[in-house]
Amino acid sequence: MTLNHLGEEDHRHLASLVAADRYATGESVLRTHSRDQSRHRAGKPEVVIFPDTKEEIAAILRYANERRLPVTGWGAGSSLEGNPIPVCGGIVLSFARMNRILNIREEDFQIDVQPGVIYKEMNHALRHTGLFFPPDPGAAATIGGMIANNASGTRTVRYGSTKDYVQRLTMVLAGGEIIEVGNRAAKSSSGYDLVHLFVGSEGMLGIVAEATLRLAAIQEEMAWAVANFPTVTDAAQAVMYIIRSGIDPAAVELMASECIELMNRFKNFNLAPAPTLFIEMHGPTKRHLAECTQIVEEISREEGCLEFRQGLDRAERDRLIEARHGLAELIQQAHPEQSRIVIDVAVPAASYTEMLLFARELAQREEEITAYTFGHAGDGNIHLVVGTRRDNHAGWRAIDTLNQRVVHRALALGGTATGEHGVGIGKRQFMAAEHGASLEWMKKIKTLFDPNGILNPGKMFPE
Ligand SMILES: Cc1cc2nc3c(=O)[nH]c(=O)nc-3n(C[C@H](O)[C@H](O)[C@H](O)COP(=O)(O)OP(=O)(O)OC[C@H]3O[C@@H](n4cnc5c(N)ncnc54)[C@H](O)[C@@H]3O)c2cc1C
Repeated sequence: MTLNHLGEEDHRHLASLVAADRYATGESVLRTHSRDQSRHRAGKPEVVIFPDTKEEIAAILRYANERRLPVTGWGAGSSLEGNPIPVCGGIVLSFARMNRILNIREEDFQIDVQPGVIYKEMNHALRHTGLFFPPDPGAAATIGGMIANNASGTRTVRYGSTKDYVQRLTMVLAGGEIIEVGNRAAKSSSGYDLVHLFVGSEGMLGIVAEATLRLAAIQEEMAWAVANFPTVTDAAQAVMYIIRSGIDPAAVELMASECIELMNRFKNFNLAPAPTLFIEMHGPTKRHLAECTQIVEEISREEGCLEFRQGLDRAERDRLIEARHGLAELIQQAHPEQSRIVIDVAVPAASYTEMLLFARELAQREEEITAYTFGHAGDGNIHLVVGTRRDNHAGWRAIDTLNQRVVHRALALGGTATGEHGVGIGKRQFMAAEHGASLEWMKKIKTLFDPNGILNPGKMFPE
């Protein structure tokens, strides 16, 4: 499908649809919206429009569809696979102005929001209600971007990912039609589940204009522990037994020794430089959590744990989680001359150790690259951050081969090419291997919703 660039008449018409200060063609705004947090090549939009209402989104899409102009949604631009890069130029729709919390319905455990709300700010606004929205990707992501990428995070092992919290959506379709999908009931068996078709669709089937999210109750008590091990294998084995024990931890994060060294060096921690697990538990009483902690300690010691620290306070926990979320920045600080990718795969629980060892051993064989391993171990998710100098062609070839081999091993183990960062540009190459014949059905669904291919073109499907 051929898409057009914007002409003068297009600018004139589109600019008439919104207030003047919400139609930006200045160089700095276009540049800001030309790349996400990945190293994928930038793609500059021709205009960034900041809609304020669903009707404005509909009017823009209706026109763009008639004129075959590309439209790419933009939340906070924190993606790691090039998901919001406007590779074909055209219109970027930024939801920075649609950032209002519309209604907090405490009795229903629900909240209605616009897509530009930052999830951390939403949780801050909820702090007096005893409720929260659990998915936590760490970056300052928006609800629209999280829905489009089906984001998850440290607490997914217990609370699930974004898809588990989306009840109802107001969607604007490619032709400008506004539809409501889902409902506010706790359960429903009515019709096809269109809500979950849109979740994870990376802005390619429609634009999220409003969402009703389910909230979870904040547990009365929380406990945190840090355990370190002689090897990553021991740490990974401990994770498997912790999950199997049925104590339902709220987070189990694994950091290999090289990550701990960075945290000590740049964040003044004094942790033993060994593979480390950070475990968070939520429960109704201190007694319950004391019992859970004891089980976690016993399992850890059986797997060779060198040191088990429990009784961390909230401030220590926040510092640790902040450093864990900030590992990408610490790696950048340690290697400012490098560029890097995050290999993000997930596998079934029983294969986690095998996957981890496979990825690490391959990476360690490569002299041209640096590699850091960490991940949301509780849900089988591994992040391997691999980098090399920008001009090191041999290094980039090695990274590409490593990426291929790690992803294909994850698929062979029954896992996925992308645990949580989405497909975007970076993971398109693995879609056929992962989905086989069902990829054709994804393409048919795309054509049904967006026959002219205007929504976030150049993503998800192999070239
Ligand atoms: C340091 C760091 C750590 C991270 N850790 C995690 C992690 O632990 N877990 C995780 O899941 N992710 C993680 N991420 C990735 C990223 O934060 C998430 O994918 C997040 O959901 C992206 O949200 P965003 O608002 O930045 O969306 P963007 O990056 O702006 O956009 C993401 C996608 O959503 C589409 N989109 C945006 N708004 C809409 C809308 N209203 N309607 C339809 N489509 C829309 C875009 O076109 C794009 O395809 C991390 C990123 C960084 C930089």
